[in-house]
Amino acid sequence: MPHRPFIVGNWKMNGTRAQLAEARAIERGAARHAGVRVGVAPPFTLIAAMAEDGQAIVVGGQDCHAEERGAFTGDVSAVMLKDAGAGFTIVGHSERRAMHGESDAAVKAKAEAALAAGLEVIVCVGETEAQRDSGQAEAVVSAQLDGSMPRDESAAGRVTVAYEPVWAIGTGRVPSAADVAAMHAAIRGRLGVIYGEDGAAVRILYGGSVNAGNAAELLAVTDVGGALVGGASLTADSFLSIVSAAGTSEE
Ligand code: PEP
Repeated sequence: MPHRPFIVGNWKMNGTRAQLAEARAIERGAARHAGVRVGVAPPFTLIAAMAEDGQAIVVGGQDCHAEERGAFTGDVSAVMLKDAGAGFTIVGHSERRAMHGESDAAVKAKAEAALAAGLEVIVCVGETEAQRDSGQAEAVVSAQLDGSMPRDESAAGRVTVAYEPVWAIGTGRVPSAADVAAMHAAIRGRLGVIYGEDGAAVRILYGGSVNAGNAAELLAVTDVGGALVGGASLTADSFLSIVSAAGTSEE
C-alpha cells in the first residue's frame, strides 16, 4: 500500500451512549496498531464524547451541510463537527445520494465546506449493480469524481476517496480483487486529471461488505489504501480484526 492504511468505521444510524464502551475498546485496540490509522464516524450525538475519550482514533462525521450556519433544520455544519472534535467527515455516501437526493454538486459543496472548516474529507463514489452489469462502472465513477471532488487548493493532502460499489454495501457481496484493482487504477487516473500530480497523494479506500474474512485480500490489492467499513465496524472484535489485517500489530 502506498500510504499508511486508513481503516474507517461508519456506524451509520447505530449507537447510543451505551455504544461508547465499544468505542473505548476500539480505541484501546487501535493504540496497539500504530502502523494503521483508525477512524470511526459515529452518529453526530456521539462525536464529542468519543473525541474526548482518546487519541488513538480519529473521530468523524457521516455527513455535513455545505453552509456554516443558518435555517437548515436538522442539519449539522462542518464547523460544528470540527467544534465537536471531529477530524474528518464522510460526504456523498450512496445512502445520502439515494435517500436524500444528493447530487455530485451538493457533495462537492459539502466537501469544500469540510476542508474550509479544517476537516479532512472522505468522498464516496460507486456504481449500482445495473451500471456495472451494463459496463458503465468506470464511466459512472469517473463522472462522480469529476462532479464531487473538492477543487480547494489544499484538497489533495486532505481528501480521501472511498470506492464503494452500491451493490456491495451491506450485502455480503464483494467485487473480485481484479475488479477492485481495475477500478482503483481508473480512479487514480481520474484523480491525476483533476489534481495533476497532487492526485497521487489522494488515498483511495475500498468499502462494501469488508469483514474479518475478506479484509486481508482486499487490502492487499494495488492502490487500496484502506477500507470504509459499515456493519463490521460496530463491534470492537470485528473492527479490530480488520485493523489488524491492515497492518503490523505491535502486540
Ligand atoms: C458503508 O456503508 O460505507 C459500508 C461499507 O457498509 P458495509 O461495510 O456494511 O457494507
